[in-house]
Amino acid sequence: MKRRFRQRFYYYNKRYERSTRVKSQSDANRTIERDPRTIVVIERDDGTAKSVVFQCPDGCGEVLRINVAHTLGSRSWRFRADVRGRVSLYPSVWRTTGCHAHFFLTLNTARGYENMPPPKWRTR
Ligand SMILES: [Zn+2]
Repeated sequence: MKRRFRQRFYYYNKRYERSTRVKSQSDANRTIERDPRTIVVIERDDGTAKSVVFQCPDGCGEVLRINVAHTLGSRSWRFRADVRGRVSLYPSVWRTTGCHAHFFLTLNTARGYENMPPPKWRTR
């Protein structure tokens, strides 16, 4: 019998409507101002993802910028985009400042959790 683990303890659930790719932080900010339900991927000239920018899913209004570029000496999140461009990040994001939101982003949907053990990596 196959059993799949499912996390049931989320307390909010936010689906972003679309994701898009831009080349700069200022383009990312403009895009999110225009449409807060967009996840923006900032990419390098060679097309690899550098960071992921989106409005915090808990509704606090802050814009989060998640580093997904693997450079020597710095940790980053693992980034995936499916064929439709939907974004997933691993591991979860747990803000240590501001609203302290803790959530997983999977296929453009953020699920916020409570009562979970700390993730290994954190946003700053
Ligand atoms: Zn927040």
